[in-house]
Amino acid sequence: MDIKEEKNKYRKQVKEAKQKYSLIEKKELSELIWEKVEKENWFINSKTILAYWSMEDEVHTHDFILKWYKEKTFLLPCVEGDILKLRLFEGIESMKEGEAFSILEPVGKEFVDYESIDLMIIPGIAFDKENNRLGRGKGFYDRLLSVSNSIKVGVCFEFQFFEKIPAEEFDVKMNYIVK
Ligand code: ADP
Ligand code: MG
Repeated sequence: MDIKEEKNKYRKQVKEAKQKYSLIEKKELSELIWEKVEKENWFINSKTILAYWSMEDEVHTHDFILKWYKEKTFLLPCVEGDILKLRLFEGIESMKEGEAFSILEPVGKEFVDYESIDLMIIPGIAFDKENNRLGRGKGFYDRLLSVSNSIKVGVCFEFQFFEKIPAEEFDVKMNYIVK
């Protein structure tokens, strides 16, 4: 099996595992993840944070972002072609549906001061003990993260965490995984 097929095998496996949980269960599990995140110095000390506005099958971020965005600067990704642009989160009223995945994205000025980002909270389909990350297969985050020196934290449910997942040379590793 080549590495692309092997990655797809994990994507399929996680998709099946996710179907065993209701949205409410996933929200409850997500709360436990954010409780852990909030205790970490890399979160406490961070001022500017890239997060993501979750889809139904991901670790739920909405409540976490709404809780913190007045104290810290939160950025969210916006899909434009095959890249992720970043914009400041200024409240749900200032979001509209983006061009992909029908996720809400902030409107307003693009954020380009990448060096000022202290922390990046990254979704993924699967992660492993060596801090590898597997995404949906478009490489969006690999392209974004390859130019960043921020602390990168992957968040996932237990069933998305593996001993070892396939990784290629362009796959950017996380610094920490919280599950
Ligand atoms: P994902 O990270 O979403 O799981 P992959 O790691 O399989 O997806 O990457 C998908 C594709 O994205 C790769 O086949 C590669 O062509 C492209 N890609 C990944 N990283 C980069 C990068 N830094 N620059 C340009 N293209 C990239
Ligand atoms: Mg990748």
